Order: sequence, then structure tokens, then C-alpha cells
Amino acid sequence: MSFVKGLKCKECGEEYPKEPLHVCEMCFGPLEAAYKYDEIKESISREIIEKRDHNIWRYKELLPIDKDPTIGLEVGHTPLIRAHNLGKALGVSEIYIKNDAVCFPTLSFKDRVVSVALSKAIEFGFDTAACASTGNLANAVAALTTAGNLKNYIFIPYDLEQAKIIGTTVYGANVIGIKGAYDDVNRLCSEVAGKFGWAFVNINMRPYYAEGSKSLAFEVMEQLGWRTPKHMVIPMASGSLLTKVWKAIKEFEIMGLVKENGTKIYGAQAKGCSPITTALKNKWEIFKPVKPNTIAKSLAIGTPADGFYAMQVMNESGGWGEDATDQEIIDGIKLLASTEGIFTETAGGVTIAVTKKLIEQGVLPKNESIVVCITGNGLKTQEAIVDDISEPHIIDANLEEFEELYETLKD
Ligand SMILES: *Cc1c(COP(=O)(O)O)cnc(C)c1O
Ligand SMILES: [Zn+2]
Repeated sequence: MSFVKGLKCKECGEEYPKEPLHVCEMCFGPLEAAYKYDEIKESISREIIEKRDHNIWRYKELLPIDKDPTIGLEVGHTPLIRAHNLGKALGVSEIYIKNDAVCFPTLSFKDRVVSVALSKAIEFGFDTAACASTGNLANAVAALTTAGNLKNYIFIPYDLEQAKIIGTTVYGANVIGIKGAYDDVNRLCSEVAGKFGWAFVNINMRPYYAEGSKSLAFEVMEQLGWRTPKHMVIPMASGSLLTKVWKAIKEFEIMGLVKENGTKIYGAQAKGCSPITTALKNKWEIFKPVKPNTIAKSLAIGTPADGFYAMQVMNESGGWGEDATDQEIIDGIKLLASTEGIFTETAGGVTIAVTKKLIEQGVLPKNESIVVCITGNGLKTQEAIVDDISEPHIIDANLEEFEELYETLKD
């Protein structure tokens, strides 16, 4: 049984069958999965969902697959943490961390989107998957294709962080490092995708892939006791995650699973690659492509595919967007670590830094619920902070030496 109607153009509304397609033939707009919401509403309830296993597939009626999932059966259900210490540091009363830094199996929210894309690719009969990645997607595609017995070709900018490269090659993946930025990698991959009949998770499979991001917001709402937060802060690379969080909230409202709460959506970028927040702040209709220069490499997309729609969501929801400098990103990583004991990567540093800015600006109010989406793990971007954190105290294995040191450490 399938609840997916087909694909629909976000611009002109033209409908397409369920195929590995991503661009409208009429207007070149992006295609998106469309659902039979009336039938889904009859089929799910809070009680039904609560009885299911704790993974992204507990919301399977709102994910774009027709058969049972085959990839990523353990993915999702990451913690939502009531962040009291961070709240105290930022002067807000109700703030939560959605912690996808511990997503299974590759420690970023990309495990969600790849599970959906690959399960769909198997339905379509593909035996090879590929991607253009800023790092975390490469990790997720490598791990999940390997576990799912699919062949893979993974394209990345050659100069990514070491842990993102090793966290791809370790699975024996076919990794191709491109001498260029992500936007060059993506351009090449569009050509490769046209020529080779592979499932490119973020190109020809993009309408299915992108839907996987909704699971993060579904979980947040369920974890809040079937409630939507007043405010959500989300990092943006292509802008896809942000638009899908919004779609997920609307869907849960349509299904009657949550009450409408007027949730406002805030986007976070690194100042060194901020085409979306720059356009938003300047009220430009379109954004200017940029050449990224930031330590937040996972967010370094200079021509964001969903940037326009992300801007629309921020405006329509009554939210806003901000950007953070490299130093603010590092400080954001350290703030989250030192308050909540959570080590996030540079993208998480961006999100924390932007949250802090928006609170200081009075844009985020102090007494309403705020959910901050932490999307990746700090162990993968250690070179970004290595010069900014304290070193261990090195002594001989000698009690007196320790006692001497202890005098300087105790407070
Ligand atoms: C890919 C990525 C994002 C955002 O991705 P979108 O392209 O905007 O959907 C956010 N955080 C991390 C850590 C990522 O790897
Ligand atoms: Zn169209």
C-alpha cells in the first residue's frame, strides 16, 4: 500500500509519476513528493505511531516509499535534550537540543536522508548509488550502501576534513576527490548523473532523499509530547533541511497529530558562505552565488539548490536568519560542549552561534520554547578547533607532581 501520489513541481504544480526525476520538464522547477493526506489521516494516530520501533520509519506513511524500507532500519530517534545549562548561559527559559550528532550510523542527520533515498533506489531497481557531498553525506552514503550491498561512487571536494575523508574511505568506498569547491563537484555530478544510470541520492533521487529530513522534525514534535516548539533554529547548506522541517510541521498539523503553534523557523549559515541569509537580510528576490571561505565545510554550498524556498519559509513563518564568523563558530562549539557536554561539528557551532545572536538581538524571545538542531559530530571536524582549546597537563607518574599541579587546578 502506498500513500505517495507521485512527484509534483514546486513551481508550476505539474505532476509526475514516481520515478528517479528531479526537474520539471515544463518550467525546470524542482520536484517534490506529494502524498494522499486524506488516506494517511485515516491510517495513523499518536497511538499507532507510539507502538512502533524507534527509528525514522515509525512515520513511514509520510516518507516517500511504496514498499517496506530496506536500508537504515535503525536510523533516527536521536535525543531531544532540555538544555538547562545552555539556557542559563544564553538567558532563555526553555531551550532544547535535537542531537543528531549521535545519529546512527555516521553521526549526522544525513543518515536519515540517505536511508530514504537508498530504500527508494532499491525499489527502483538500482544497484549503484552516488552523491556529491560536503562530507557528512559521503559518510552516510558510504556506510549505508556498504551495509545494503549497493555499489557506490562518492564525489567530494578533495580538501575536506580528514575525519570526513577517512569516515568514507574506511568502508572501502569509491571516493573521488575533486580539485574544486562543492559547487564544482555538484556540477560535475549532474553531468555524470546524466550519463551513468546511477541513483545519485542528492540529484536524480533528490525528491525522495530530501523527504528524509522531515523525520527529524517529526521526532522533535513527538518528543515534546506531540507539541510543536514556538521557535526552531536550523543550519542551512542547500536549505533543504530547513524547508523539510517546515513541511513536517505542516503535515503533523494536517494529520491532527499536533495543534498549530505558529512555529517560527530560523536559518543559520556561516558568514564565509551565507548566500541565503545575506539575501534574506537584504530582501533580495534571488541570492548571489558565493565562493565559500569558512571552517564550516559541511555547510559550504555557494549556490544553494533550495535557498529560495528556505528564504520563503523563514519569511512566511515569521522567523529570521543570521550568520556566524569562524571565531563565533568555534565559540559556539565550545559553548555547547562546556554547558551540555555535547561535542558538535562546525555546522553545530554555526547553529549555536546564530541562536546566541538571535537571542541577543531580541529576535528570539527569552520565555518561549526554542529547539536548536545540532546536525553533526565534533569528532569529524577537530582541525577547526585544535588551536582554540586547552591542552592536557603533562606530568610524570609521580604523586608529588600531581599534588603540585592540583594546587593550580582546584578552585
Ligand atoms: C548537509 C548538512 C546540513 C544542511 O543541509 P541542507 O543541504 O541545508 O539540507 C546541516 N548540517 C550538517 C552537519 C550537514 O552535513
Ligand atoms: Zn514546473
